[in-house]
Amino acid sequence: MRQRKVKNLEQKYEVYNDILVYEPSEIRGKWKKLAGDRPIYLEVGCGKGKFISELSALHPENFYIAVEGNRSVMLRAMEKIETNGTGNVVFIPHFIENLNDWFTPGEVDGIYLNFSDPLPKNYTAKKRLTHRDKLKQYFTILGKGGQVIFKTDNTGLFEFTIQEILASDLEIAEITRDLHNCPWIENIETEYEAKFSGLGENIKRVVIRRRNGEAKENAQMTQITSMAAYNGRNIPTEDKVFGASGRAKAYLAKHGHENTINATIGSLLDDDGNLIVLSSVEEIVHNLSGADFAEYAPIAGTPGFKKAVTKAALGNYEPNGFVKVVATPGGTGSIRNAIANYSCLGDSILTHNWHWGPYKSIAGEQGRSLETFEMFDEDGNFNLADFEYKVKKLTRTQDRLLIILNTPANNPTGYSLSMEDWYGVKNILDGIDLEKKIVLLVDVAYIDFAGETNETREFLSVIDTLRSNVLPIIAYSASKTFTFYGFRCAAMLCLAHNPEVAEEFERVCTFSSRASWSNSPRAPQIVIEKIYNDNNLMRRVDKERAKYREILQRRGKAFEEEAAALRLQMVPFRSGFFITIPYDNPALLCQALEKKGVFLIEQNQGVRVSVASISEDKCRKLPAIIKDTMDELAGVL
Ligand code: PLP
Repeated sequence: MRQRKVKNLEQKYEVYNDILVYEPSEIRGKWKKLAGDRPIYLEVGCGKGKFISELSALHPENFYIAVEGNRSVMLRAMEKIETNGTGNVVFIPHFIENLNDWFTPGEVDGIYLNFSDPLPKNYTAKKRLTHRDKLKQYFTILGKGGQVIFKTDNTGLFEFTIQEILASDLEIAEITRDLHNCPWIENIETEYEAKFSGLGENIKRVVIRRRNGEAKENAQMTQITSMAAYNGRNIPTEDKVFGASGRAKAYLAKHGHENTINATIGSLLDDDGNLIVLSSVEEIVHNLSGADFAEYAPIAGTPGFKKAVTKAALGNYEPNGFVKVVATPGGTGSIRNAIANYSCLGDSILTHNWHWGPYKSIAGEQGRSLETFEMFDEDGNFNLADFEYKVKKLTRTQDRLLIILNTPANNPTGYSLSMEDWYGVKNILDGIDLEKKIVLLVDVAYIDFAGETNETREFLSVIDTLRSNVLPIIAYSASKTFTFYGFRCAAMLCLAHNPEVAEEFERVCTFSSRASWSNSPRAPQIVIEKIYNDNNLMRRVDKERAKYREILQRRGKAFEEEAAALRLQMVPFRSGFFITIPYDNPALLCQALEKKGVFLIEQNQGVRVSVASISEDKCRKLPAIIKDTMDELAGVL
């Protein structure tokens, strides 16, 4: 909307000479002095000044600089300041070009951008106030801990901004797509906001900060040492599991199998450290025809696989919900697709503090972050209170929430939610506002090594009765179940309340597959289809798997018994591939153990033992080695 030009503007401006800064470059480097050493906040595009006048009155401990290129509009802003009489605001009557001309690095503490012009045409993107070049500029003048606080009603501009944040290696400190439903966030409405917020679009707000104070900046270097676009991701130099496993293999080559305990990899190995492959499955693989593996599979999976994997995932459970299936290359693909389709850019995904590390990378790769709840309370029970607290916290700022629960036989703890835990989860989700869209992704990667088939699937009856705003999705991996780790086979299944949501699930997840890896491998799908179409084969596979499940259970029990005898604390364990020992300095413990030929995986607050990859005998010996090493470290620390 064009503003009418104010008559005699020059004359009217003279009244405000004491709060006007016509030549901000002359004050460059001296703003702190002008501000009386108070923190300095900048509002870029202050409009008629409702926001800056109210904010400055609320916070006399701060100093504010309002910038506005439209002088007629800014006159209204200055009039407001005159009446609030706070004396902590000055005005710059210019459009911003290069803020570095006005401020020295670190001179400003925060920047507000309110309802900036969306400039919707693509060719004007560079001029948007949240374009990556502008964001970069803001952070050169912002001090340590400085933030940019941006709000808008324009969805296109908001989503553009999120992408620009990630492209700039910056971080989202806070985000909401419905600010007016977040009464705990101090919000001062602008004139525009007050007038237009009622007209349909929600107000969105994002707080932007530097990532851990680091900035990937290579422009100044004489030699280019980095070419990658980090896009907000933290990419370590080495994968923790494969790094430790590599060191274990090198140690074993030198010192022999008997002197090495390589409990790193989450694959089932025999007592000699060789990969266990179900022979029944191997036989079917060898009998595959060329077409069985050479032909593309349909993107969502072959019809036979979809039918078979539904039986595999659900067991005898007859669902009430509408089931749809999409094949993915490994459970990893299911997790990726769920994040892509059931969370928004910049959102937090919720999972337990003890979790499979890649959750964070898969979320970060897609511009989402991971928030965790404490999995256990002080008594070692599943921490429903913290789960509830975090679900409520996140659904206050997000319209939708993706929750990942990895059970039964959680990685890295070996914990399985009990039916009581599941009823608790249901109770909490039942209490969430129906307007909030919740997706509960149950990652059952270890289900077929966690216990008896139908017992481990009892929880399905609970998640199948959640309210209509909650969509349960099962991520069912064939990696462990059929010893298909490298074959890359899994499926994601929804239990939707109505056919529309189920059809949509199939459509959006198939689309994501197409856009990521296209088709999943056909051969493992055909193998699973063959197993489920032949009762004899099915029985053979089940029997063989049961034998290995028993071996795994014996290993877990052996470790558990020894740990109990030595009073070595374990994170609550039920079954499965892993056991975790809590420890405050896991890196130090892993280092010390590696010197003794014991290779474990460092977790945030503990060390993970893969009982799946070491013999029962080693499972019995290991607790004492860990305990002794802890005692030695306690003596040193
Ligand atoms: N979920 C958990 C908890 C895991 O530990 C793993 C693999 O180790 C996966 C999912 C995915 O495995 P894959 O992609 O091989 O099916």
